[in-house]
Amino acid sequence: SAEEVLEKRRKFMNPAMFLYYKKPLNIVEGKMQYLYDESGKRYLDAFAGIVTVSVGHCHPEVVQAVIKQTELLQHTTTIYLHHAVADYAEALAAKMPGNLKVVFFVNSGSEANDMAMLMARLYTKSFDIVALRNAYHGMSPSTMGLTAHSTWKYSVPQGFGVHHVLNPDPYRGPFGADGKLYANDIANLIESATPGKVAGFFAETIQGVGGAVELAPGYLPAAYEIIRNAGGLCIADEVQTGFGRTGSHYWGFETQDVLPDIVTMAKGIGNGLPLAAVVTTPEIASVLAERLFFNTYGGNPVCSAAGHAVLKILDKEQRQQHCATVGNHLLARLRALQDKYELIGNVRGRGLMLGVEFVTDRVAKTPAKNETMMVMERMKDLGVLVGKGGRHGNALRIKPPMCFTLEDADFLVDALDHSLSTF
Ligand code: PMP
Repeated sequence: SAEEVLEKRRKFMNPAMFLYYKKPLNIVEGKMQYLYDESGKRYLDAFAGIVTVSVGHCHPEVVQAVIKQTELLQHTTTIYLHHAVADYAEALAAKMPGNLKVVFFVNSGSEANDMAMLMARLYTKSFDIVALRNAYHGMSPSTMGLTAHSTWKYSVPQGFGVHHVLNPDPYRGPFGADGKLYANDIANLIESATPGKVAGFFAETIQGVGGAVELAPGYLPAAYEIIRNAGGLCIADEVQTGFGRTGSHYWGFETQDVLPDIVTMAKGIGNGLPLAAVVTTPEIASVLAERLFFNTYGGNPVCSAAGHAVLKILDKEQRQQHCATVGNHLLARLRALQDKYELIGNVRGRGLMLGVEFVTDRVAKTPAKNETMMVMERMKDLGVLVGKGGRHGNALRIKPPMCFTLEDADFLVDALDHSLSTF
């Protein structure tokens, strides 16, 4: 029962882990866009294991790929040749634009960003790194330094040499949707707080944990230019935005028409299996070859088989186009709700990566944190699971598995409508 699981968790698991909902959900099964609790109650999952179950819970083709590989060979490491990892690296590189053709597999987004940071520093022989406020890039000691939310920081040494600049948030930022103006903060920072040279710049194109904040248009081209003029590399964190989720493009950075030097990816890449990757150019990748670099599980045969299956499913089932269709419908319906309820201050995002921010006062934009929790609880009771995020914890995050249908979208919006109508 849920009570027994909770009791064991209290006794034997680290208390830093947090739970959603006053009465936590005890999930026992998943099928595509649905989750089931121990009583058999079905939930429409619009959070996908935190944007990780990309093609659907237990998608049959991922399950088959994993079973087949598990029966044949579970693990070797990269000290031997194995075709599953090489085939997968080739397929992933084929999805990348420009000269981004060299892959290194790791296990998590934090590891991927750690590695990107190391590569940027080695390649540029500089140290300073620039990242955005409201960013989330991981929880390892160095990526905790990149992350810019007090919620996710401990008072320990972390990520030396990281500087955070103004977040180009069109809703809350001082320059509205003028991306170029925000980028001036990077130039000011480089001039005042670095030796005039930087190693790199990290950004998500839609900030995930930050509450689905889409960077103001024009920001990344301006930021990349400033960073490159200071000798730095540009790193796109595609941990949440990659693989067609934005609908309009396969990679989030393409929505701002930029070409990064390093791309990090995780979460949806493996549909829930621990898999992540760093992709860069042959020239940048070569800096690591001056010494040995190693990761025991990175690119293990089973996760590679799952990742490869995900790539094939995304193409076969035309998931990017599907995200655009369902996402546009969701956005239109959420915007209509915004006209109906004062509490909705902002609706944003792209494809199946959307945010709804609640405020108690539209002019002052006062975060409605308690109301956000109440809406989530009510939606759960109605059978819909959404995420929560944003600097003030007052944004709903809607990021379902990419098999989410138009009917699912309507069900979700109706549940939100009903939840809001009872305030
Ligand atoms: N980057 C982004 C954009 C993320 O959302 C996350 C995880 N929330 C990470 C990096 C870190 O990934 P992981 O938890 O797999 O280390």
